This record gives sequence, C-alpha cells and structure tokens, in this order.
Amino acid sequence: MNLAEIQKIVYDAGIVGAGGAGFPTHRKFSDKVEQIIVNAAECEPLMMVDHHILEKHLQPLVDTLNLLLDALGAREAIIGIKGKNMHLLDSKIVASLAGTRVSIHEIPDIYPAGDEVVLTYETTGKIIPEGAIPVMVGVMVINVETVYNIYKAVTNGQPVVDKYITIGGDTPEDITIKAPIGMKIRELLEAAGFGNLEGKTVINGGPMMGKIVDLENDTVTKTTKGLLIFPTTHSIVQRKLRPMRMILKRASAACCNCTMCSDMCPRNLLGYSLNVHKTIRAASHSEVMDTEAFLQSSLCCGCGVCTVIACQQDLDPQAVSMEVKGLLGKHGLKRRNNKAPEHVKPERASRLVSSSVLIDRLGIRKYVKDKVERRYTEFNPSAVYIELKQHVGKPAGAAVKEGDKVSVGDVVAATAYEDLGTTMHASINGTVAEITDRYVKIVR
Ligand code: SF4
Ligand code: SF4
Repeated sequence: MNLAEIQKIVYDAGIVGAGGAGFPTHRKFSDKVEQIIVNAAECEPLMMVDHHILEKHLQPLVDTLNLLLDALGAREAIIGIKGKNMHLLDSKIVASLAGTRVSIHEIPDIYPAGDEVVLTYETTGKIIPEGAIPVMVGVMVINVETVYNIYKAVTNGQPVVDKYITIGGDTPEDITIKAPIGMKIRELLEAAGFGNLEGKTVINGGPMMGKIVDLENDTVTKTTKGLLIFPTTHSIVQRKLRPMRMILKRASAACCNCTMCSDMCPRNLLGYSLNVHKTIRAASHSEVMDTEAFLQSSLCCGCGVCTVIACQQDLDPQAVSMEVKGLLGKHGLKRRNNKAPEHVKPERASRLVSSSVLIDRLGIRKYVKDKVERRYTEFNPSAVYIELKQHVGKPAGAAVKEGDKVSVGDVVAATAYEDLGTTMHASINGTVAEITDRYVKIVR
C-alpha cells in the first residue's frame, strides 16, 4: 500500500490525533520523515487509555508501524514508553522486535514526557526548532490510539466512531471504557455508574491540562481521553475555575518576578526562548509595549509545570500563557524570530519533574488506584451529537439532511480532502434529527 492510498483511507476513516488537539492524521504523513515516534508516555496522572491499548493490541500496532515505515520510506519507528510501564507489554512481542525497524525506548518517569518536544528529545536526542513541527527534524510523532485507529481503518475499513476513555479521580474505582463519539458526557457517566456528581466537577483530560466539562452540552469527541471527577472544592478544580480577570489581579499583586516559572519550564530547559515570567508580568501590568513577552507564548505547550510546580505564590502563568497563545492564534499572529535552540540547559537534569512529585503537588495521591480496570460496556445513547469541529483546521460540513436514516459508520459530515480537516461518521443507527453549525444530531 503506498502513501497516497494510506492517506486516503485515513482521511475517509476520519482519523485525527487521538491524544492532543486532533491534528488530521493524513496531513501529518510526509516522505521527509526518517523516524516515527509513538507517544506512549501518557504522562498526565490517572490516565490509562494508551497503556490499555498497548497491553492488548501491541502486535497490530507493530504491524501498522511497519506498514507506515514502508509507505513513508522511513528508517525506524520508536515506541516511547516509561520504564515503569514496560511490564504492560507482551514480552514475546517485545523480544521479536530485536533487530527490526520497530523498537521500544524507555523514557524517564517525568512530566511532561508526552510533550512532543520533550518526547522527541528523550527518544532521539533531536530538538525541534522553536515554532517548527517535528517533520523539520525528520520526525513524525503519533499517539498510540491514533496508530490503532489506522490499523482498524487499513485492515477493516473501520472509521472512528468510538473513543477509549479513562474515568477516574475521586471514584471508588477507575475504568477505561469505549464510548460512542457524540454521546453526552453526563449520559455516559450515568450509564457507566458514575452519575452521582453532587459536589463534584468533571475534568475532560488530565489534571494538568484538562478542561472543566460543561455537563449540559459537552459530548465525547475524537480527542476525549479522560474524564476525571474531583470534589469541586479541590484545588485542581478551583484553579481552573478562576476567571482570567482574577488571575491577572492576583499576579499584579503577588508576582515577585522570581523567574522560577521560566526556570522550571520544560521547553525553556530544552533551550526555547520561552520566559513565561515576562508574559505574566507584562499581562498583569499592562506592559503592552513588550510584544516579545506575548509573542513567545506561541512556544508554550500548556503543560502547567510553571503553575503547579514552580510558582510558590499560587499564581497561574500557565493560564496566562495559554490565554495569550489562544489570542495570537485567533488573530493569526506569529512570532517571526524563532530559532533552533543551541543547547539543552545544563541544569535541566536537576529540574526534571518526576510523576511522583507531581502527584503529591496536585494533592491526588489518594485518588491513584492500584489498578485501572478495562471494561467493555455496551452504551446505547438515545441520541448522539457529532460535532463538526473535533480537530485542528476547518470544521466539517454536514453531508446529510434532517430526516435521513443513517447507520453506524455512515459519513455525516466532511471537509474537502485538500483542506485541513477530516470526516465524521454516525456512531449509532438512527435518524438525523437536527443539523446546526456545531453538530449533527442523530436519534435512535
Ligand atoms: S505551561 Fe508553563 S511550563 Fe509549560 S510550556 Fe508553557 S510556560 Fe512552559
Ligand atoms: S514563579 Fe510565580 S511569582 Fe515567580 S515570576 Fe513566576 S508567576 Fe511570578
């Protein structure tokens, strides 16, 4: 199978990055790639989706990587996984990889090991230049579930109609389930036995980078990875609830300009000109003349180390940096003086943040369970809302009309193949009941 054929299959199956912002996967493929790095770091605490896929489906993943290596003309594929999780991999399959183009690379148990800049450095020693994408250093970074979705599309023509999700946090048990895309999150939690949310708040994603769920409206999308339930009074939730106005007021009153947020920043430690203390100072003191203090936010990955680990004043440089980054993106503003970092800072080794320290700092040690069970529950939502924008790029346009009958796997929306976008499919059998500029609603 050649590269163009795989790209078409991947586009038709609606595959986007399952572990991040949802970059359309077919647009990631390039014949300039030498190395494929599979991001199996899953570095946010309490998340177990990728590990469950690696544990159960390692051989299909390896087969798919070999297919991609041939199509891309790439040299090797590296599965980057933390040493503490190696026991999850089938030892016979791991042994069979010796001398092949697919290898397993143990990465340290640090946060954020899954950031593509950090992961690329830890697995290959290469540093992606500022403002660049991995292909500029001959690398493609791809998430575990994304590779598994490619496997299903290539072998069975199966589109993305469901999503693996870990449910955990302040819960009697943690589980990983497979849910239909478009199911309302409240309905999913109720059906999975986590419906009592009195005094609780649900976070979509990990405790560091996740967002608070709007239980009335939010649905499962192609990038939903975890639903973590915490008491609303928990500091993780309280921090995410702070309005930007208050974040800036507190910073203007309490920031002592100690620079620890920049000194601990994982990207700064890899040589990036990302000094978030300047951003929070400029934003909280209205120093709008210092444009560089704002433009550098485009280099931020939003990991939150500056906020959770570095700042001793309980300020939130992560939120400020991501707010500025979002505004830059919205207005199409770019930093033009990007450079390739010259060297990794010598102090990096002593400033790496271990997962264990992070768990304690977040105050979630009591929520870490011995085991996360993988459970196959049949979900039968009465309706699904297939969002038209679950990915980076252009929203998909509806390809059906109200009243149409659809079956699981039918295309309900798509972007043109030339555009940055993807295809959306029905995740239940039913009738198209409503089409808005946000979703296609299907009822059973
Ligand atoms: S969130 Fe903070 S620590 Fe993380 S990359 Fe951005 S500035 Fe650096
Ligand atoms: S670590 Fe906190 S107090 Fe220090 S410069 Fe950063 S935001 Fe200000």
